[in-house]
Formats: sequence, structure tokens, C-alpha cells
Amino acid sequence: MASEDPTAKIMQSVARALSAGRSKEAVHQFVQALSHDTTLKRVDLPPLLAQTLGKSKLDALIQAFAKHPCMVCRRGLLICDDCEGRGYFRDGRICDACLGLGTTNCDFCAGSGWITYKYVPAGLQEMVLLARSKLALAEARALLAAPLPGGGKTGGEANRKTLAQRLLQANRLMGAFDNAVGIARSLAEAGAGSATTFENVESACSSAASRLVRRIRKLLQLLSENAKVQAAQEKSPRQRRLNERRTQTYASLAKSTDFKGTSLFHVYLRELQSSEASPEPSTQPGPRGSESSN
Ligand SMILES: [Zn+2]
Ligand SMILES: [Zn+2]
Repeated sequence: MASEDPTAKIMQSVARALSAGRSKEAVHQFVQALSHDTTLKRVDLPPLLAQTLGKSKLDALIQAFAKHPCMVCRRGLLICDDCEGRGYFRDGRICDACLGLGTTNCDFCAGSGWITYKYVPAGLQEMVLLARSKLALAEARALLAAPLPGGGKTGGEANRKTLAQRLLQANRLMGAFDNAVGIARSLAEAGAGSATTFENVESACSSAASRLVRRIRKLLQLLSENAKVQAAQEKSPRQRRLNERRTQTYASLAKSTDFKGTSLFHVYLRELQSSEASPEPSTQPGPRGSESSN
């Protein structure tokens, strides 16, 4: 506890930030401490932190890392470079890259909106993976349990916006699952931690992702129907044409094999996405795998 001990000093300051609920500051301080303190780099972090910070503050630090936002984007999204955020091109074609929505996935965090695992100290990655998967699985369950927007009715700008929001939310979770599967595989390969834990995480995340893919296809179908209704009601020929193109684009995206070239493509989940090419009826609950990541 001697205050001359630099590690103890850093830990005290991390603990203060955590107690005050300043979780981002705690993360920054801890990462900075690791980059300076060579002792910290060599030790097994979880036991050391449990001892110096206590169990509850260690949990708080793990949660802080799990929820730490990506430094590049806002909730996984960036303005689409291809169409400069319009969602369509000057000639009226719909921009596939951003699904006509004007925003694409951040490359840095795969659209998850959370800081990349590379930023998380190696000794804490397994714990952060578990905490983060738990958060994403809970959000996916809530999203899948929520009724589809519009209650069967499509059309109207409000309906389109809700559908688009749900699509982006589902895709952000796909980004989180993609990252989880990627890191689980690489930690397993490196023999860093429990192989069973990594298998369980991968299986829970893949199972949730496969249900999300079906929901994404359904939302694309509804976006297509919405655009069709909007096209029929539109007086301006230009807007009508735009909505006709949206109708076609969303309908073909709903049947796309792997979403390649769009922000719906996820590298570690691509095989799973390809095997889901035909949209399922929305009543199909999907395989009930073990959803808990513990
Ligand atoms: Zn675009
Ligand atoms: Zn990002």
C-alpha cells in the first residue's frame, strides 16, 4: 500500500475512477499504466487485480472495458464514403454499400461500436469477451423478442425509419458477434484461457447471429414493401423512381447469399450468413442453443 510504489499508485487512481463511476477514465488510466509499468505487463492480471482492487472493482473494470466505445465511430456507424451519406447516387441508383441508409460499418470495430479487443490488455481479453458477449446476447434476445415494426402494416416515413433503426441495431450486434467469434478463435488457438469457454462463446454467438440474420432478411423484406407503398403514393417522379429502386434493392438484398459488398457482410460469420440465404418465416424461432456465455 506504500504510495511510493508506482503500481499501487496507479491502482489507487483506477479504483477511485471506478468508485466514482468514471469508467472511461479508469480504462484510459489502466491502459496507460500498462504501457509504462513493465511489472504489470508480466504478471497474470486477474489475480493481481482481484487482490489490489478487490473482486467488485475488478468486475467494474471488466464492464468498463466491455462497454468502452470505439474511438473512431458513433455506435459502429460512419458516414458512407461511396454516396457521401445520401444513400443513393446522383444517377438515382441506391448505394448497396450502406443499404441506402447513408451510414456504413466502422472498419475499426466491425460496426460493434465497442473498442477493438486489441485495445484490451491480453490478460483481460477472455473476461471482457465473456462480459461483452453477455451484453450482446441479452440485447439480441430483446431485439428478437420485440414485435416487428408496423404490426404488419408497411408504408410511411416513420415505419421506414423504425425498420432502418432495427436493421442497424441488428447489424451492430452482428458486428459484436463477429468480433467475439474472431477473438474466441484466436485466443483458443493461442491456448490463452479455457478452450471450453471459447467454444461456448462461439456457439452462443453464432446461434444468436444466425437468428439475427433471419431477422435482418425479414427487415429488408419489410423495407422493400415500405418503399413499394411509398412509390405508389409518391407524386414527384424523381422520388417515385427512388422508391422503386429501393423496392428492388431491398428485395434482392433480402435474398443475397452473403451480403458481400454491403455493410451487412461480416467476415467471421460469413459462412453462417451464406447458409441462411433463404428467408425463414418470422415465426420460426431458430435453434435454441445454449445462449448463456458462461
Ligand atoms: Zn452509401
Ligand atoms: Zn468503430
